[in-house]
Amino acid sequence: MSWGVAPDLSVVTQQYGCTAFSGEWRVGQSVCSTGFFHAGIDLAEAGCCDKPLFATRDGVVHAVGGFPGSLGLGPNAVCIKTDEGPFLIYGHCSAAHVQQGQRVSAGEHVADVGTLGFSTGCHLHFEVRAELGTLPPTGLLAPDQYLDFGGPPPPPDESVVKTVTGPVVGDAPWYDWSSLTPIGQTAPSGTRVTYTEARRVGGVWYDRIARSDGSPGDWCLNDDNIDTGGTTPDTAVSEGPPPSAPSGQSVSVTVSGRVWRQAQWVNWSDARPIGLTAQPNTGVTYTEARQVNGRWLDRIRKEDGSPGDWALWDDDLDTGGTTPDQEAAKGL
Ligand SMILES: [Zn+2]
Repeated sequence: MSWGVAPDLSVVTQQYGCTAFSGEWRVGQSVCSTGFFHAGIDLAEAGCCDKPLFATRDGVVHAVGGFPGSLGLGPNAVCIKTDEGPFLIYGHCSAAHVQQGQRVSAGEHVADVGTLGFSTGCHLHFEVRAELGTLPPTGLLAPDQYLDFGGPPPPPDESVVKTVTGPVVGDAPWYDWSSLTPIGQTAPSGTRVTYTEARRVGGVWYDRIARSDGSPGDWCLNDDNIDTGGTTPDTAVSEGPPPSAPSGQSVSVTVSGRVWRQAQWVNWSDARPIGLTAQPNTGVTYTEARQVNGRWLDRIRKEDGSPGDWALWDDDLDTGGTTPDQEAAKGL
């Protein structure tokens, strides 16, 4: 048996709930006839010191050590507030790989197995709480359903090199590009940024933000904090690489974006205006593009998904830099 939370550990050394072990929380006889309560589940394995431990839900790191109820769990105990609500607690860790306030995804490596705190050997004490700091069994949840990932397993790590420009959405924490740890500074909402490279680690995309001189920076932002018109690395990868057709050629590619200024609809076949206007912020998807006299013309998809008879000039679309003629060149 092994679990997503600790794939290298296969032995339950102590179950959650009532126990005779006097090292655990003392509770009334009405709660447990044994008189003691184990607030989590203990997992171990021979030689398991320093084996990796993983988040099993998406969430935010609430604290590392020193949180209510962390007594005995060591200085590297990790507490994650899941998006679903409950807190996931990893006790006795030899190391924590996350910091307070950091966003984590299911499958992300958050800590290593250790024996710090009140512990007699390397093991994971995994505890799930609806409330922090209450005396067991109050506030506790059975950890069973949190031992494994709640949804499909996270996609594999990968990286892509591409240039994409867009505004920051919400106040976004800066991360160090090498270690992917927060550096304690924030990019204000609305800041226009360009990234030149992105990598997905533990299901989370991080975008390496270019310096003002265009060179690759040392810092990165969570891709969720950048509005790139729907062409974020995850969706862009599934759509295939950005087109790079030679002049005069056409490409088949599915790209979504929005109209960013008033634009003339043109006929796809002859590239002539048809006398109708597309309003700013209209969301569009094109499935094909071709070069006409040095400009790219994008064939806009109908609502039923079929290729349309109408097209828009690519200059009028904000598609996050993946358009044939490159968003950056327009100074968007
Ligand atoms: Zn325990």
